[in-house]
Amino acid sequence: MSLDNRPVYTGGCQCGAVRFRVEGALGDASVCHCRMCQKASGNFYLPLVSVRGARLDWTRGEPKRFRSSNAAWRGFCAECGTPLTFEAPDGVALAIAAFDDPTGIAPTIQWGVEEKLPYVHGIAKLPSEETMGDVSSAPYLADLVSYQHPDHDTEKWPPEEKP
Ligand SMILES: [Zn+2]
Ligand SMILES: [Zn+2]
Repeated sequence: MSLDNRPVYTGGCQCGAVRFRVEGALGDASVCHCRMCQKASGNFYLPLVSVRGARLDWTRGEPKRFRSSNAAWRGFCAECGTPLTFEAPDGVALAIAAFDDPTGIAPTIQWGVEEKLPYVHGIAKLPSEETMGDVSSAPYLADLVSYQHPDHDTEKWPPEEKP
């Protein structure tokens, strides 16, 4: 919470070169299955939350932007490629999973369903394993060292040395 009790959210890209801060209420949260959102995210669909009614500040770096149409720009980290924004004339939306704590930002609607990939619906029913569920086939997982930026703001990033 900020001094005047407005909610505050933080987040950023995987490498930490780009960080954002949102102060105020978040708007609509959605997933978009359209072909542009698939390409921009390299994924089956793109989860976004509108921040048009809130204050958005870039607290470290700033996204690079690709103009994906005459109406919209897509922001991403130029260092690591994390998709970060959808910027249209009516406001900016941020990628939900880029927030430090995305757990409370649940999508309430799906857009672009005409392009929805046919197997997406069945993913929730697939066999499920935790990351370490098959460590024998990926033994490097046992002593993995993450270089991902932590889920909170940092004074300095990256740390001096990477093991
Ligand atoms: Zn990055
Ligand atoms: Zn879309």
